[in-house]
Amino acid sequence: MQLHYDEETERFRVELRAFFEANLPAPDERTERVRSSAHIPEWARRWQRLLFDSGWLVPGWPPELGGRNATPVQQMVYFEELVRLGVPRSCNPQGLSIITPSILDFGTEEQKERYVLPTLRAEISWCLGMSEPNAGSDLAGLRTRAELHGDHFVVNGQKVWTSGAHDADFCFCFVRTDPQAAKHAGISVLIIDMGTAGVETRPLADLTDPEHADFNEVFFSDVEVPAENLVGELHHGWAIAGGSLAHERGMLWIAESTGLERIIQRVVDTARDPLPGGTWLAEDALLRDTVARAYVQAQALKLLGYRGFAKFAKGQKSPEHSVLKLLGSELRRNLALDVGEAMGPAGIDTDRDDAPAIGRRDDQAWLMQWLQSFSGTIAGGTSEIQRNIIAERVLGLPRR
Ligand SMILES: Cc1cc2nc3c(=O)[nH]c(=O)nc-3n(C[C@H](O)[C@H](O)[C@H](O)COP(=O)(O)OP(=O)(O)OC[C@H]3O[C@@H](n4cnc5c(N)ncnc54)[C@H](O)[C@@H]3O)c2cc1C
Repeated sequence: MQLHYDEETERFRVELRAFFEANLPAPDERTERVRSSAHIPEWARRWQRLLFDSGWLVPGWPPELGGRNATPVQQMVYFEELVRLGVPRSCNPQGLSIITPSILDFGTEEQKERYVLPTLRAEISWCLGMSEPNAGSDLAGLRTRAELHGDHFVVNGQKVWTSGAHDADFCFCFVRTDPQAAKHAGISVLIIDMGTAGVETRPLADLTDPEHADFNEVFFSDVEVPAENLVGELHHGWAIAGGSLAHERGMLWIAESTGLERIIQRVVDTARDPLPGGTWLAEDALLRDTVARAYVQAQALKLLGYRGFAKFAKGQKSPEHSVLKLLGSELRRNLALDVGEAMGPAGIDTDRDDAPAIGRRDDQAWLMQWLQSFSGTIAGGTSEIQRNIIAERVLGLPRR
């Protein structure tokens, strides 16, 4: 195994860095706050449009879709650089990374024409309607009903934890179209215009930012959806659920270890300065030990990611991703708590901004980093579900 990049890939990295250096929106341009994961402020819209026009939005795709036909290794470098610099690619990650690829894979020509380019150019935003009050880990248990009446569906039911639903233009919504069929059959996907009569969003406040909710409950009451908004085949939405969530997953989890390195670097930076009261984190033996251990674990995760990526690039299955998701998200959470505790009162001082942000928020107090870090252990499959996957699919233990 050779752990270095060839010259062409290094040239790709240099070009990418030069692009970011010359074009990344400066902090004083980013004055309008990003309210939710489907809210795109004007500066973010311009930035995403520039990425699209320059072929840096989805480098693995062809130029007409905002890419440059980058090789898998180049795409990996792209995600490493994005995370290393903390660059937001899109303010509507679900729309860009999950829904657009799903429409490209499963949508009709009309749907591709109507939704793909406007999403890539940040002209429209999306939310993802999967989870329901009784269908999260067990997504196939979803009960939101859609009945076909001639040229339209009538949708009734409820979604929950729908990120950005109150700001989204459309919902990529998983519904039950055949209640008689077995659990995983009888599910379909509809594109629902969030402005349709009968759609109601109720934002759910969360601990980390009670005044700016991201999650929502979404209620559908006799919502009429044109039949042409069906994505893929009727009753075959389960294939889209698997396909959608797999997009870019491998690349993103490799980028995750770069994110961990960035956090560890911030701990080291914080430790170099005295805290109020004159104490130095750098003198805290327990924390030194924690950080060193976290660094070693992050390096191990990175190598595991490379191994998974090598399989992914050859078109093979790479169960390493579940291990990366599980260990990466839990390492991030534990590290944030250890640093916050070692800092004492300074760790909960929300005027400090030592901790790198997760997602859309600006840099923040370590306590906030800790509170937010729980989301990584839940979204996209909880830690317990990852352990089940590792037990059954990686180790071959019998299903419970
Ligand atoms: C930041 C964030 C953003 C999200 N955004 C969206 C979104 O935009 N759209 C959307 O549809 N959803 C979204 N979700 C919801 C997310 O997909 C669900 O929270 C997740 O799938 C878990 O489902 P649940 O919350 O219903 O928990 P449950 O599935 O009810 O699980 C509750 C607990 O039981 C455990 N458990 C469940 N089943 C098993 C099992 N078989 N074995 C062992 N333990 C088990 C779980 O690990 C968990 O600890 C988001 C979640 C987060 C945190």
